[in-house]
Amino acid sequence: MLSEVSILKCAEYSNEAVYIKVRELIGLLGGIKRFVKKGERILLKPNLLTGKHPDKAVTTHPAVVRALALVVMDAGGVPVIGDSPAIANAQKAAERCGIMDVASDLSVEFLELKTAVDVENQDGTAFKRLRLAQEALDCDGIINIPKLKTHAQMFLTLGVKNIFGCVPGVNKAQWHLAAGVDTSSFAGMLLDLFLYLKPRLTVIDAVVSMEGNGPANGTPKDTGFIAASADGVALDSAVVEILGAKLDDCPILKRAKAINAGVTDLFRIKILGESIEAVRVHGFRFPPLISANFAAGLPGFLDRRLRKALTSRPHIDHSLCTLCDVCIKVCPPNKMDKTARGGKIRKKNRITIDYDGCIRCFCCQEVCPSGAISAKEGWLKKIIPGL
Ligand code: SF4
Ligand code: SF4
Repeated sequence: MLSEVSILKCAEYSNEAVYIKVRELIGLLGGIKRFVKKGERILLKPNLLTGKHPDKAVTTHPAVVRALALVVMDAGGVPVIGDSPAIANAQKAAERCGIMDVASDLSVEFLELKTAVDVENQDGTAFKRLRLAQEALDCDGIINIPKLKTHAQMFLTLGVKNIFGCVPGVNKAQWHLAAGVDTSSFAGMLLDLFLYLKPRLTVIDAVVSMEGNGPANGTPKDTGFIAASADGVALDSAVVEILGAKLDDCPILKRAKAINAGVTDLFRIKILGESIEAVRVHGFRFPPLISANFAAGLPGFLDRRLRKALTSRPHIDHSLCTLCDVCIKVCPPNKMDKTARGGKIRKKNRITIDYDGCIRCFCCQEVCPSGAISAKEGWLKKIIPGL
């Protein structure tokens, strides 16, 4: 069966222009009444990673969230806006990025997704039990509103990854620990979560995206489009094609293809509105590939040495580090520390990483408020790029 993905060019974030485009985008998929019934409480789930100005492209732009809230109201639904950032306070993050203004202007409830509940997930391919937010389960349906950004661990954060925000903040670290260094297992958990919560619709904000050191400290890049689908996997696959990346470079899509979840094959995706060529993005700067699983299974010292030489790892630029300790607090396996370095006279504190125990989750890079942490490619991979 074909999955449909609608795509429209969108060059600016004025409230009116974005509302018109979002309505048209959903119209191409059959209209909002296909996704929302009168009286239903619909969770709008933006990317609310941390409280940055919308121009920084860290969070879903408020104009896109506003447009979706209005469209849900047009169908007689009741929109609520909610998320759970990994470390930031949801309310404060929403205030700083302009999403709280949308909630108050339109009298829409803002929800922090904070009450953890365990659910059985017999269909799960990575984990049979999931921990997620009761607040998300209490809604009648979800409209997922990701931002197109790079991501050191998952290569890109698009529709499927955005649903990780339905896991209450502190519990995110437990999932990283459970998956360990295995990116495929973490990608599997994200897919399990996405398939369990089944957002009715995913609308991606790619008017201005983030390239480079994403998802929090990369560079905004004009990409000039919005896209939507009832099949988040198909939507993500189409976006990857627009950016000129390989599907297999994205652990989530590689996993989706392997387990037949959603549609990843472009020949089975019907593109509506603009063609992929019409919105193609050239020269997008991706993060280095992580390939953390390459050496898995090799015995003893070879495993350790190969893994070190091949896998990307977090690198700290000490000249940018303000010693705020946020990374130390978030590191799931507690492999970061602040230690005194230097000679006897000029001892200075520095953040250090125990790379042997580091699981390459890049949570530290994601939360660093100073952009002092980036993903650095393993030295062997640098020399032999095809590895
Ligand atoms: S989060 Fe960033 S700025 Fe803060 S201590 Fe860690 S590296 Fe330094
Ligand atoms: S050092 Fe960074 S990448 Fe490594 S385990 Fe800790 S948070 Fe994850």
